[in-house]
Amino acid sequence: MNPIALIGAGPSGLAGARALSRAGIPFHGFEAGPDVGGLWNIDNPRSTMYESAHLISSRTTTEFAEFPMRSTADYPSHRELFRYFGEYADEFGLREHFSFDTRATSVEPVDGDATGASGWLVSSTGPDGETSGVYSAVVLANGTLAEPNVPSFRGEFAGEIMHTSAYKSPKVFDGRRVLIIGAGNSGCDIAVDAVHHAASVDMSVRRGYYFVPRYLFGKPSDTLNQGRPLPAPIKQFIDKRVLQAFTGDPVRFGFPKPDYRIYESHPIVNTLILNHLGQGDLRIVPDIDRFDGRTVHFSDGTSGEYDLVMLATGYHLDYPFVDRAHLNWTSASPKLYLNMFPPSFNGLFVLGMIEASGIGWQGRAEQAELIAAYLAAQRDAPEAAAAFRSRADAAWPDLSGGYRYLGLERMSYYVNKDAYRRTVKKLIGTLPVASPAEAPTGSTAAQEARA
Ligand SMILES: Cc1cc2nc3c(=O)[nH]c(=O)nc-3n(C[C@H](O)[C@H](O)[C@H](O)COP(=O)(O)OP(=O)(O)OC[C@H]3O[C@@H](n4cnc5c(N)ncnc54)[C@H](O)[C@@H]3O)c2cc1C
Repeated sequence: MNPIALIGAGPSGLAGARALSRAGIPFHGFEAGPDVGGLWNIDNPRSTMYESAHLISSRTTTEFAEFPMRSTADYPSHRELFRYFGEYADEFGLREHFSFDTRATSVEPVDGDATGASGWLVSSTGPDGETSGVYSAVVLANGTLAEPNVPSFRGEFAGEIMHTSAYKSPKVFDGRRVLIIGAGNSGCDIAVDAVHHAASVDMSVRRGYYFVPRYLFGKPSDTLNQGRPLPAPIKQFIDKRVLQAFTGDPVRFGFPKPDYRIYESHPIVNTLILNHLGQGDLRIVPDIDRFDGRTVHFSDGTSGEYDLVMLATGYHLDYPFVDRAHLNWTSASPKLYLNMFPPSFNGLFVLGMIEASGIGWQGRAEQAELIAAYLAAQRDAPEAAAAFRSRADAAWPDLSGGYRYLGLERMSYYVNKDAYRRTVKKLIGTLPVASPAEAPTGSTAAQEARA
């Protein structure tokens, strides 16, 4: 068996490396950046992190279960997270498996068809120049939040246009009239930065949002109701009222009323933005109609003058080094069994292609465990691997948790964390693999050492 190729050493790639090592599966990792940590390494040229960024999911619901963070912060900063991933890699000896500053440039089936039966040719470019090698399978963990979604607008804007992917420091706002387009989590974080630096800040939104405070009843809000998921309609009923009690109605600050129910889109974990709206530090404005020099015209016929337009318009999925047919792309995203396995089981595996409220790195670690368990079964117990494929042929599980997600591009690979993790864990149980408790390296030792 040729080794496996693993592309990316962010949280997902590290989880992959850990699971493959634990299952005794030889692999080689490619990381385009200089270190582990993915986008949490603000110095990684592909990082979309900014100086003020902190976790928006809380530490204990996000960390790898076998490797608790040392931090005492509930929502640590990106710098702490970068350190954490370095420590995780060191604890489990993961760095040695990766070539750093090495970008995978193409992944092609060796036999020229999509079955991957003879393996995959992975080409890369790095300090040793262009190299290539044949691998029996390839795990793609190159991230989902790197390729900016840049919408086109009518007209020309004469000021500066920047996407949040390029935003690092609020200095860029100094003394400028700023328009932020989009009110997702990054957009709201960045708007809060901007109010302390800009001459004025407006935020253009198309739809309403639900705002979740970081703390509810004195605890990180995502730590409430853990492990006992309520049915979707009950959770929506209760949480909507709890949020109304804590944050009031964002409509009074100028946001449109959401035309969907809570959790049908990703909630915004930021109430500072509401405080600033209440202080009059920024304004909500409608959707863009057109640009004209420094003037931006809005859909309600009003307009404003700006120096900087910040596009908080999100990201596209992108696996640029592999033909889309191999990943069964349909419209905005690959259509994969459990968001991981192409239906043809061609030897490609995608790790980290999940958006979900609160899935954390543990959710990604469980994905990695399932992939490693499947690969181990292919090697050691082909009949169990075949049974796994038959199950996938028969039916794909409902991962929505009963929520009707909005039909937006960014929601096309969204899952409900409880439904997803339950399904993945169940499927791990169908494959013969060493459970974490029997693992040869470190989980318990690591936990004890850090307790
Ligand atoms: C501002 C911000 C805040 C966030 N906050 C949270 C949060 O609070 N909680 C949460 O769970 N998630 C959060 N996220 C989501 C974040 O995407 C995940 O936490 C996590 O980083 C995903 O890990 P990943 O390994 O899949 O991808 P990434 O972290 O993007 O890592 C991908 C790695 O692949 C490498 N790579 C890419 N292409 C290639 C190639 N061709 N060859 C070799 N290497 C390649 C990249 O250099 C990178 O190191 C946040 C994201 C942002 C931008």
